[in-house]
Amino acid sequence: MVINFNKKRRQITLVLLAILCLIVIPLVVNHNKEEETIQVVDDKQINNYIIDVIFNDKDKIIECNHNITYVNNTGRTLDKLYMHIYPNAFLDSKICPFEKEEMDQAYPNGFNKGYIDILNILNGDSKLKYNIEGDKNDILEVELDKKLQKGEKYSIDIKYKVKLPNCLGRFGYGEDTINITNWFPIACVYDEKGWNLESYSAIGDPFYSDTSNFTVNILVPSKYEIASTGSIIEEKKDKYRNKKLYKLQAKKVRDFAMILSDKFIINKSVYGKTSIITYSLNKDLAVETNKIAKESIRVFSELFAEYPYDIYSVVASDFFIGGMEYPTLVMIDKTLYNKNSKFLLEYVIAHETAHQWWYSIVGNNEVSEPWLDEALTEYSTILYFENKYGKEVSDKLLQTMEVQSENYRGEDMFKSTNEFNCSSEYSINVYTKGALIFNEIRKEVGDKIFFETLQEYCESYKFQNVNGTQFMKLWKDKGVDINKIVDKCS
Ligand SMILES: [Zn+2]
Repeated sequence: MVINFNKKRRQITLVLLAILCLIVIPLVVNHNKEEETIQVVDDKQINNYIIDVIFNDKDKIIECNHNITYVNNTGRTLDKLYMHIYPNAFLDSKICPFEKEEMDQAYPNGFNKGYIDILNILNGDSKLKYNIEGDKNDILEVELDKKLQKGEKYSIDIKYKVKLPNCLGRFGYGEDTINITNWFPIACVYDEKGWNLESYSAIGDPFYSDTSNFTVNILVPSKYEIASTGSIIEEKKDKYRNKKLYKLQAKKVRDFAMILSDKFIINKSVYGKTSIITYSLNKDLAVETNKIAKESIRVFSELFAEYPYDIYSVVASDFFIGGMEYPTLVMIDKTLYNKNSKFLLEYVIAHETAHQWWYSIVGNNEVSEPWLDEALTEYSTILYFENKYGKEVSDKLLQTMEVQSENYRGEDMFKSTNEFNCSSEYSINVYTKGALIFNEIRKEVGDKIFFETLQEYCESYKFQNVNGTQFMKLWKDKGVDINKIVDKCS
């Protein structure tokens, strides 16, 4: 996600805006891109989701038939399987994933329930037992009817209904868009710590998932255009019922999001083999947005690794927290699409696009180690401005960050999201301080090693999940001790 757009943050970004308006000098960043061995995740050994969805517009309910072929990559025998059922975190105003002071923005028409109603779970014809657990009833424990050996596959059919809340967070609907995100039961990650069963928390992006394949068939009223992770493979019109059936597909992605609207203005362009599609809700910056999205994909493709998907969508949404990343799709607060906030819009789009590398291509546990994606993403945003507008501009941005974070300690960057008291404390420690630490690392090793190491990181862990230890080891092998640099920044 992007920076928290509270009042304080708005002031900061206004300062950044003032700085950027003053200086625009182009500069090309030199870097050497070396061919690395690509460690490909085997297409057949990853989870496969096929989900049939009917969208009931009147009640804002989606009815789903969901099949997951789960591959046991845990390295041990399993008799249970765990899945996140995030919509349940929206059931009650006391537990919903917003801070108190955000509630009015999240629910401008008052609190409104969201939830998932699991109707049944089957393996073939046999019914499976299940339990709903977790702090927010957002973990589904499925009891398997046989032992699942390591490497084996297991097919589960789940029938459920999801109620979307009238909510302007990631999940819900507003006046212009219907945001269907973190909506389906998604397998929890089993890593060196075992099952990760964290609930949907208010601070940060509390998500952690494995790269999977997805096919989603969704029936919607004809008036709606759909923006989604992956591509539209097929679109059929049912004239009699005034509906459209979309077949959507995404391969090797770690989540699947969909945004519906009957007001989208769509702009398209191409970068290499990738279609850049932007969905705006007013004409003001529609063309500009597409250029920014394309530039962002270009900059990061050149700096880190080629963008591996054939589509990238930037979607204006009823969403009050700046921007949010999903694989091949990002949602952006629609209120940023006006000429007065062009810099902010560009900043947010560049940030969310950088997440396509740090979160989507290379994944991590965003709860326990949010710095792995957010600090690097925030620094990548600085790199975007350096590349596009010149070093003088990016240096000014860094100077502003220095001022903001001078009273914060470097090692706090390593905290989990749960250890921060509020979003602004999280943001300044992880994003701002984190970006400055990456800048220090770059200064210490020089551009050549800095960019080569990030390229190596991206290629070595493409489509996988990493942890901080693995990340630090990569730098240690280049003679860089991140802990020492962090100490220096404290
Ligand atoms: Zn972010």
